[in-house]
Amino acid sequence: MEEKFFTLREVELNNNCPECYSRDGLQLTFKQRFIENSFYKAISKETAHSLFCKVCETTIFPARWTDDIDRVFEYQQRASSPKPTSFKLKTFSWILILVLTALLIITTLFFLGIFEDQIL
Ligand SMILES: [Zn+2]
Repeated sequence: MEEKFFTLREVELNNNCPECYSRDGLQLTFKQRFIENSFYKAISKETAHSLFCKVCETTIFPARWTDDIDRVFEYQQRASSPKPTSFKLKTFSWILILVLTALLIITTLFFLGIFEDQIL
């Protein structure tokens, strides 16, 4: 089962980068996990985030965050509410369900002797 994240929100921060001290490179990204396979697509309630500096092209891990970044992050996290969880069956699943249901009905009718008159 493959796990993926989609981008919920991207925020440009005006804080100084802890690595290169540039003020115009920090980008905070909020992501939410979803699961997609041949049968269904589901959005989970699990979220993730990352802070990336576009100037020095470095991912800034929380251990390197300054108090200012922490504060802005907390504020932005409150403002980025995750999407509600959802579960969607794909067309392939619906076809499978229809075929199985049809087979079940035909089998039931057969055992009830419904087809006997037509066959004989
Ligand atoms: Zn930087």
